[in-house]
Amino acid sequence: MVTKGSIEDCNTRHAQGGIAAAIGINDSTELHYRDTITAGDGLCNEAVVRILADEGPDRIADLVNFGVPFDTVDGKIALTLEAAHSIPRILHAGGDATGKHIEVTLSRIVRTISLPVLEHHLATDIMVENNCVKGIRVFDCEKESFEEFGCRYLILATGGAGQLFKYTTNPEVATSDGIALALKAGAEIIDMEFFQFHPTALRMPGVVPFLISEAVRGEGGILRNIDGRAFMHDYTPLAELAPRDVVARSILSEMKKTRQENVFLDVTHLAPHRVKTRFPHIYQFCADHGLDITSSLIPVAPAAHYMIGGIRTNSWGETSVCGLFAAGECAGTGAHGANRLASNSMLEVLIFGKRIFQGIDEKGSRQYNDNLPNRNIYHRLKMKTALDKAPLLSLQALQNLLWDNVGIVRDRQGLTEAVDILGSWQHTLPQPSDRQSHELANMIVTGRLIAEAALLREESRGAHFRSDFPQRSPEWLRHIVTTIDKAEQCNV
Ligand SMILES: Cc1cc2nc3c(=O)[nH]c(=O)nc-3n(C[C@H](O)[C@H](O)[C@H](O)COP(=O)(O)OP(=O)(O)OC[C@H]3O[C@@H](n4cnc5c(N)ncnc54)[C@H](O)[C@@H]3O)c2cc1C
Repeated sequence: MVTKGSIEDCNTRHAQGGIAAAIGINDSTELHYRDTITAGDGLCNEAVVRILADEGPDRIADLVNFGVPFDTVDGKIALTLEAAHSIPRILHAGGDATGKHIEVTLSRIVRTISLPVLEHHLATDIMVENNCVKGIRVFDCEKESFEEFGCRYLILATGGAGQLFKYTTNPEVATSDGIALALKAGAEIIDMEFFQFHPTALRMPGVVPFLISEAVRGEGGILRNIDGRAFMHDYTPLAELAPRDVVARSILSEMKKTRQENVFLDVTHLAPHRVKTRFPHIYQFCADHGLDITSSLIPVAPAAHYMIGGIRTNSWGETSVCGLFAAGECAGTGAHGANRLASNSMLEVLIFGKRIFQGIDEKGSRQYNDNLPNRNIYHRLKMKTALDKAPLLSLQALQNLLWDNVGIVRDRQGLTEAVDILGSWQHTLPQPSDRQSHELANMIVTGRLIAEAALLREESRGAHFRSDFPQRSPEWLRHIVTTIDKAEQCNV
C-alpha cells in the first residue's frame, strides 16, 4: 500500500454525517435503491445501484465486526435522516465523526497485518504494456527519489479532487492524482462534469471551509439570510431537505441577492445539549474559532465537496486497462449518476472495494465488460496550444479559475475560457520535480477533464448546472467518456 501522506491523511477521515444502508426496520434495499436512482437524475447505472443497496447491510456488518463504534440508541444502531433519503438510514459514529472512526479502525487493522505500507510515497506513473498494468512509479517524498514496483494488479483508491477549487471541504491530499494517472495509462474517464458542491461549509475569514454536515439540516437546522429570514421555501417546497445541488444554488442566489459572502445556518432553536452531543465535532471546531453555535448563527456558503465522475469501472472495479482497478471517490462506477445521494460515498468505497478482491479471488482478472447502454459520447483530450496571454500558473490561479468558471453555475463563455487557459498551462508546464508540482500537473489534467465535459454537456442535470442551458434534455441521457490519443499519452 502506497500513500502520499500519512495513512490518516485522506477524505475518509473528514467524513462527518455518516454512511447510508438499509438496515432500519421500516427501510428496505428497494427504497434505498429508489432514492439513489432519483438523486442520480437519469444517469445511474441501475445494476450498480442495485448492488450498492443490496450489499450495503453486509458491508455495515463488516464494519461492526471490525470494531467501528457506531452510535446507538437503546442498544440499537442509531439512524438519522439526510436530504433526499425518504427515511432515516444514516449510521454515524462519535456523533459527527463517522469517517474518523472508520479510518482509525481500518488503519489499526492494516497496521496489525503484514501489509507493507509506504507512507509519504507519491504514485506518479502507471507502467503499462499492451494495455496491461506492469507496475507503478513512485516518488519517495522524504528521500526525494523515484522507485518502481512491478505488479499484476493495481488498485487506485486515490480519493477526490476538491483542491481544484478555491473553496473546498476536502483536505490538501485531494488533488485527483489517480484520475490523471489512469488517463495517461490509457483508461477511460467518465462523468467528469458532475462535481458535487456542498451547500454548507463554514465561511469565516481566515478559517478553512470546514464542513457543516447535511445532518445538521436533517436534525432541524434552518437556513437564514442576512436579515434573519428563512429563505429556502422561496426556492423549493423541500426547503432545507432539498437535494444538495438545489440547496447550493439557492444559497448562491440568496448571497447574490443580499450581496453577502455567506448565509447563515441556525440551530439556536435546538436544545443546546442535543447540538453538543449530536454534533460534537462541529460544535468544538466552531467554538475553537470563537463561535458558540448553540447561541449564534453559523456563517455558511457552498464549497466543492465530492467528485462524482472518475475512472470508469464495471461493477467489479475493473477499468478499461487490464489489471488496473479503481475504487472509491476516484472511480466512476455509475452508482451516483449525475448527483450523489448523501452518505452513499463511503458505502460505495466499501462495496466496490470488496468486490475487486472478490472478483480477483473468484476468477482472476476478468475481461472488462461495460454494462452501460452504449449511447455514450466518446471525447478525446488533445494537447492544446499555448495562449499568448494566459494568466500566470499557480495553485491559487488554478483554484480561482475552476471556482469562477467551472463551479456551481457554468456557461459556455466561462467554460471555454477555462478550457483554453488550462490547455495553455499544460502546454507550458515544466517537468514536475516534487510532490507539489506533480499534484499541480495532475490538477490541470483533471481540471481539463471537468471543464471539457461540462462544455460538451449542453443541459442542466444533477450536479451540473449551465445557466445557458438551464433545462434537462432527453438528448443528454448519456455519459461523456474521455480518453487520450495513444500518441499523446506522454504529453497529456
Ligand atoms: C468534509 C467531508 C465530509 C464528508 N462526509 C461524508 C459523509 O458523511 N458520508 C459519506 O459517505 N461521504 C462523505 N464524504 C465523502 C467521503 O469521505 C469520501 O468520498 C470517501 O471517504 C473517499 O474515500 P477514498 O478511499 O476514495 O479516498 P480517501 O479517503 O481520500 O483516500 C485517498 C488516499 O489516497 C492517497 N493518494 C492520493 N493520491 C495519491 C498518490 N498520487 N500517491 C499515493 N497516494 C495518493 C491520499 O493521500 C489518501 O490517503 C465527505 C468528504 C469530506 C471531505
